[in-house]
Amino acid sequence: MDALPVSLAIPAGAPDFVTTVTAQLIAGNGELLPVSALPPDGTFPTATAQYEKRALAPTIPIWDPSICIDCGKCAIVCPHSSIRMTVFPDATADAAPAVLLHKAFKSRELPGHSLAIAVAPDDCTGCALCVDVCPAHSKENPEHKSIDMADALAHRDAERARWEFFERIPDNPAHLHLVVSLDADRFIARLDKAKPRDAQFFMPAPGTWLQITK
Ligand code: SF4
Ligand code: SF4
Repeated sequence: MDALPVSLAIPAGAPDFVTTVTAQLIAGNGELLPVSALPPDGTFPTATAQYEKRALAPTIPIWDPSICIDCGKCAIVCPHSSIRMTVFPDATADAAPAVLLHKAFKSRELPGHSLAIAVAPDDCTGCALCVDVCPAHSKENPEHKSIDMADALAHRDAERARWEFFERIPDNPAHLHLVVSLDADRFIARLDKAKPRDAQFFMPAPGTWLQITK
């Protein structure tokens, strides 16, 4: 499969360094960069892989919320954090556009919330580990799981739109904000970061990890 054109591989909003330097490296044009484009001390900005969209997967996972059991194993196992999950109040779910798939979140600690799972189709490598580990099978068709791999070309546009909205869901005060305010007791009463599933609700970013390990 051909690589994405650089204009698509680098999303809007990427930092200047990524659009001027990293984009040329992705395009294989690194030797055309003038020395003046590179940092004088040789240090490169970090956390720029998030802007490098490779779109290399021929198949990507598609979520069927109707049989999902909220276990979080798909998000745990993904080597690239390309499939993520989040929870938010039911009122947010009711107001969300149809592009966002969601379901009732099964949790005694956090009632009145909905769960959404989304895939970053341009970051997914198509390894299918998430599908292999998913324990939820359809009763009518045991071959069908809560996530199945499907043709990327047929689903990419819809999954891109879903991922774009998913990323804009505000942090939920019921978990992330309480952690940031170090209100650990109330936080643990809702979502316990020591539980593998609950840990999946935190963004896999170094800054967030520092916050939740204080
Ligand atoms: S197919 Fe692989 S890379 Fe893609 S979301 Fe699943 S585990 Fe992650
Ligand atoms: S592994 Fe399957 S059942 Fe578990 S959260 Fe992911 S999609 Fe749902």
